[in-house]
Amino acid sequence: MNIELKNISKNFGQFAALKSVNLKVDGGELVALLGPSGSGKTTLLRIIAGLETADAGSVLYNGEDSSTKSLRERRVGFVFQHYALFRHMTVFENIAFGLRVRPRAQRPSNAEIEDRVMKLLKLVQLENLSHRYPSQLSGGQRQRVALSRALAVEPSVLLLDEPFGALDAHVRKDLRRWLRKLHDEVHLTSVFVTHDQEEALEVADRVVVMNEGVIEQAGTPEEVYHHPNSPFVFRFLGDVNLFHSRMEDGKARLGPNGHLKEGSEESCVFVRPHLIDVKTQSDGSEHFAARVRHINAAGPNVKLELMTANGEAVDVTLTQEQYRALGIAKNDQVFATAREMKVFVEDYSI
Ligand code: ADP
Ligand code: MG
Repeated sequence: MNIELKNISKNFGQFAALKSVNLKVDGGELVALLGPSGSGKTTLLRIIAGLETADAGSVLYNGEDSSTKSLRERRVGFVFQHYALFRHMTVFENIAFGLRVRPRAQRPSNAEIEDRVMKLLKLVQLENLSHRYPSQLSGGQRQRVALSRALAVEPSVLLLDEPFGALDAHVRKDLRRWLRKLHDEVHLTSVFVTHDQEEALEVADRVVVMNEGVIEQAGTPEEVYHHPNSPFVFRFLGDVNLFHSRMEDGKARLGPNGHLKEGSEESCVFVRPHLIDVKTQSDGSEHFAARVRHINAAGPNVKLELMTANGEAVDVTLTQEQYRALGIAKNDQVFATAREMKVFVEDYSI
């Protein structure tokens, strides 16, 4: 099932929550809607589901306008961040619910329901917990039940709104891997809302970055991470240092202070912390001097906080080997060079 959104707009009173959004989701794709809180992700997902109506624009399912169809007709499964399982029903009955409430003519037999629920429980690795009640499950297990419940009615589209948002970091990691596997095994078209860039980059075939009711960029994880089309996307997808710089011969220069404001053509230069080289001696190359203000060596990498001569903080990430080879300590003077930078010429105030 492919989904096409055409010029979707939605206002809440005077507030424009979505501004003419266009998006195509191919059949079988797993797409992440990624953006900060309030950017319109949930509203867009609810419009796709038909739980909310757009003020303008249309939602096409396989090319057909879906506005007249019910949730069941659209064959949409929905999983929320806080999925309220029925507390008085076992895991088994929670999953079976969507099938049991079908009109008699469409309702599978008890044996078929049992078969389908047990298959789903196996898929989410909860087959031994079918008789438990929701209160007897961990958060991660509950979300897996919620997913099974959404899948029980054999949707062709699965919509998930921050499904792992309330879970611990390591459970989230497990579940995101598991969602990817599930999506591939069940042959679904899935749209997955998250504000966590790592989650989006790791799980999705395509990441749709949203900001203030518009799509800033849509592309594969590699495209949006390595070729962001705006400062917003660049900043949202990873740690970044921002320098103001002047342009010389069409090239951005990071001067000795790391902050040159002379010259007419000013630009914003973005540098990822792991793309900055640090030396203890000046070797005449294009660099800026800074002092080491803080070192955090706990973790796979070493994080340095540098302070430039004019008081700007610069984050640098080194490998443990690079750090040891440098032999630097807090308050030492160092010389930093950007190995790779991304320049946005317009002056963005951020
Ligand atoms: P996200 O899921 O990206 O955090 P939402 O889609 O929930 O964002 O909300 C986008 C904006 O629309 C927010 O500013 C939110 O306050 C507003 N909004 C969402 N739903 C309603 C509503 N029912 N009434 C009024 N404002 C709403
Ligand atoms: Mg939301």
